[in-house]
Order: sequence, then structure tokens, then C-alpha cells
Amino acid sequence: MLLQEAEKTDKILEKALEGERISKEEALLLYEEGDFLKIQFVARALREKVLSHKYASYTMFRVVNYTNYCNVECSFCSFMDEIGSGKGYVLSKEDIVEKMEFAAKENADQMFLQGGVYPDLKFDYYLDVLSAVKSRFPAMHIRAFSPVEIINMERLTGLSLREVLLRLKEAGLDSVPGAGAEILTERMRNIISPKKASVSEWTRAMETCHEVGLLGSANVVFGSEETKEEVIEHLNVIRESQDRTHGFLSFIPWTFQPQTKRFKIRMVPTHEYLKVLGICRIFLDNIPHIETSVMVLGKGVGQLALYSGADDVSSVVIEENVLRSFGLKSEEEATRFLAGAGFTPKRRDLLYNYDKYPDYIPTGKETSYMNLGAS
Ligand code: SF4
Repeated sequence: MLLQEAEKTDKILEKALEGERISKEEALLLYEEGDFLKIQFVARALREKVLSHKYASYTMFRVVNYTNYCNVECSFCSFMDEIGSGKGYVLSKEDIVEKMEFAAKENADQMFLQGGVYPDLKFDYYLDVLSAVKSRFPAMHIRAFSPVEIINMERLTGLSLREVLLRLKEAGLDSVPGAGAEILTERMRNIISPKKASVSEWTRAMETCHEVGLLGSANVVFGSEETKEEVIEHLNVIRESQDRTHGFLSFIPWTFQPQTKRFKIRMVPTHEYLKVLGICRIFLDNIPHIETSVMVLGKGVGQLALYSGADDVSSVVIEENVLRSFGLKSEEEATRFLAGAGFTPKRRDLLYNYDKYPDYIPTGKETSYMNLGAS
């Protein structure tokens, strides 16, 4: 790296360390030319302001994919079945409650409900599912429906988006995942999923959720044909949206995983993933929590991410159908994993409340759990 560029990136990092906001151009320069270790150092220092380095957090939820019928046809998706193919499924509210019975026995108190976009399902189906889960498990937190699903409900009902969300909330919806964002530039959306919500539809849906009190998360998924500029542009869309509504509690950088032959992925090197994660921590100065996804990236990368700006490992996932899973499958596995990485595990809910869970008590099995690099 040229000395001149190094001086520039050092200045950007100093500015971030002092709590000053960095620009899009500066973030891009960090991605292109920034020193990996210096970025990790600054990201770690900024993480400390949110959660002491002594701790790393996790939560316990069950994923329920209520249907795999979908008309959006994202090129990377191996989960969907074409509507009318007769090969897919729709879960009844009874099936869903039964799945949650199992999850509750496994100590999960959070639910993540998501599915394909299936216009044949009536709006009452969604309301009934939410009410059925809430009446069986009143304390279960329900996070559900990505922007593309919510927009489908808006079209289906002819109601305003706000009214749709208020009715879902009344039925039991507690928060929303900012899912389906992938890369928020129109060029990439046309390549990956032309039928999915556009950038403006995605932000309209998320901001309306925040306005009615449905908070949640956002993510970026990279490792396809996107440019570095587009990754930073995506972060900027999220940061500007957050400035308006303050509804994103956390941000999760992921990489695309091989799922279909139709979709060409670029295997992102670990150091690049960790560098982007560090830049997320630095650039997204208005989002408190940065999560790493152990489920997608594996345990080795997950542990390193906790030293690169992340304060959370996303979750213990009881079920996941959409993605290949390396995830943490039980609370014991999560606490051993975090303690083995040198942290005191801290359980949280999907709104980042820590206080309702007791402090972790060491079991003595922590240190020999895994070696670096194992997935
Ligand atoms: S990722 Fe979601 S929206 Fe896209 S095709 Fe799969 S199920 Fe449908």
C-alpha cells in the first residue's frame, strides 16, 4: 500500500475512534486500502462502547418457515417451490404451534416466522397464526415477515401498509427482520431478484414498521457480483434510513452461500468478511449492535468476528430451512462456544433486553470446546 493511502486511512480511523461520522467515500477507501488489523482495532474499541469486551451475547429462537411457495424467484434460493407445482407446503396454525411447543421445551422464547410470497394465502392466515402462537405462549416474542412479505399483504388487502402492520401487531407481531435486503442497489436487485422489493419499497416497508413501533434488524449479503462501492452504498442506505426512524437494533453482515446452479457466488475470504464486519461497526455509527452469523459462516469465523467488532453471535437456531446451517443448536452449545472464545455469555431477547436472563455460571467445560478454524 502506498504510504500516502496509509496516512489517509489512518486519519479516517482516528476520526471514527474519536466518535466522528465517516463518509461513504472514506468507508470505501477503508474497504479498498485500509489496514486489516487497524480496522479491527478501531471496530473493537467502538464495540466496547456498546457491550463490554467481557461479554458476547446470544438469543434462543426457533425459525418457522410457514410456506415455501413463492412467486419471487430469487436466483440464489433453493428453498422455494413454484406456485402450482404441487410440491410445496403451507403449515397450518396447529402445525406452527406444535413446532413452537418443541422450541419452548428447548428453552427458546423467541420465534422467527418467515416464508415465501404466496398471494393465495389470505391475510387472515397470518393474523390467525400470530394469535394462535401468542395465545399458547403469551411471553413468546414473535419476529416475522420481511419487507417483500409485508408488501404482498398490502397488495392482498388493499389496506395501507401502516394499517396492515397495525393489524399484525395487534395479532401478536413484536418485531420485524430487515430480511431480503441482500444488496440495496437497483443494479444488484435486477441481477439477483428482479421481482423482489426495490430499494425504495424495502426502505418504505422498514421505515413504516419502525414508525408503528415494530423494531428489528438489517443485514447485508455479499459475495456475488456486487462491487465494493455497492456494499458501501448498501450500508449508506441503511444508515440514512436509521437516521430517519431509529428502528434497527442490530446489523448482520453475511455472505452468499452456494445454493443453486443459477447463481454465481464469489467465495469471500475470511479476512475480507471480517474487514467488512469491522467497517460495518465503524460506518453504522447509529446502529448499536453488530451480529455475526455463526449459522452461515461457521464457528471459527464467528469467534474471530467477536474480536472484529461484533458483540453478538445472532442466535441459537432451533430450525432453519432456507440456509445451510453451521448454527449453534442448544443453549449449552452456545454458552460453551462463547466462553471458549474468551467471553462471558450473555443471553438476550430479540429487542436486546439482557436483564430478564440470569447470569451465566461457568460449567468448567468451556476452554477445550473448539480449535480455531473448525466449523
Ligand atoms: S429468498 Fe424468499 S423471496 Fe426469494 S425466492 Fe426464496 S422464499 Fe422467495
